[in-house]
Amino acid sequence: MNDCIFCKIIAGEIPSKKVYEDDLIFAFHDINPQTDVHILLVPKTHIASADGVNEDNSAAVARIFEVIPRLADALRVSDNYRIISNCGESVGQTVRHLHFHLLSGAAVSKDRL
Ligand code: 5GP
Ligand code: ZN
Repeated sequence: MNDCIFCKIIAGEIPSKKVYEDDLIFAFHDINPQTDVHILLVPKTHIASADGVNEDNSAAVARIFEVIPRLADALRVSDNYRIISNCGESVGQTVRHLHFHLLSGAAVSKDRL
């Protein structure tokens, strides 16, 4: 049985505020936004983290990066955002399904990290 919370969101078993979906990826508002715009973009297939990306599943990652500019435009934050993916518990990954945070707003500082 798959206990992955993001797989359940993709399947519609857990509600989310969806902003985008296609055959490969799903995007939704973070339940605990850290700034004005905080979207999560995920592949529909379960990949645990960036460390699990390979030539067989990378099309979803490419799609995520194609969709980010369109979403940023729709959210009126073009050229004014940060993309983060935590890979591993020790750097703060709490959900073991690959996801990219799209962050924009006053709380996003210019600090490197
Ligand atoms: P991580 O810490 O793994 O990089 O990010 C996981 C993110 O998933 C966190 O920002 C957290 O708020 C978000 N999150 C965890 N559970 C849920 C949920 O059930 N729904 C939504 N929309 N976001 C979630
Ligand atoms: Zn999953």
